[in-house]
Amino acid sequence: MFVITGTPGTGKTTIAKLIAKRLELPLIEVNKLVKQKKLYTGTEGGSLVVDMAKLKKELRGFDGVVEGHVLCELKLPATALVFRASPLALRKRLAPRKYPKQKVLDNLEAEALDYCAIKATENYSRIIQIDTTGLTPAKSTSIALNYLKRGGSDFVDWSEYFLSVRV
Ligand code: ADP
Ligand code: MG
Repeated sequence: MFVITGTPGTGKTTIAKLIAKRLELPLIEVNKLVKQKKLYTGTEGGSLVVDMAKLKKELRGFDGVVEGHVLCELKLPATALVFRASPLALRKRLAPRKYPKQKVLDNLEAEALDYCAIKATENYSRIIQIDTTGLTPAKSTSIALNYLKRGGSDFVDWSEYFLSVRV
């Protein structure tokens, strides 16, 4: 199983489709699965709260590519690809989604603080980070496949994002 995770807007759904195609593996989109199989406990701020125990059970034994931001919170026997994008790039990508302002800010902050990458490090034996800032989905996909095959990972540091904020 290959896990694709990262902050919303980093390109998981787009790239997961391309990776699954290239590797000729089935793809599970967690957002869709959660709705289809009602793997949630309720809603919070307009988003579904995923029932993590049910999700884990549903994914047991799956041999393919699975993508979703909540996967960084789940312990699974898999390599995790963590997609990244600078908070400024992310802000542009999230704009058309019409999320509530607070949800956008929460996501930018999570990305700036490496939230998903840190969680994935705790939960997976191997993590690979891919910085998609300024790249096309096709280019990000080829970098991801290359890291999977040959090893390697990007290193990101968005601390300048905070240093540029005036108080
Ligand atoms: P996620 O599933 O992580 O929320 P999506 O794949 O749904 O992300 O959306 C990412 C958005 O960012 C899409 O509109 C996509 O076209 C755009 N995008 C821009 N550059 C990239 C890139 N290098 N990789 C993936 N998506 C990108
Ligand atoms: Mg998505």
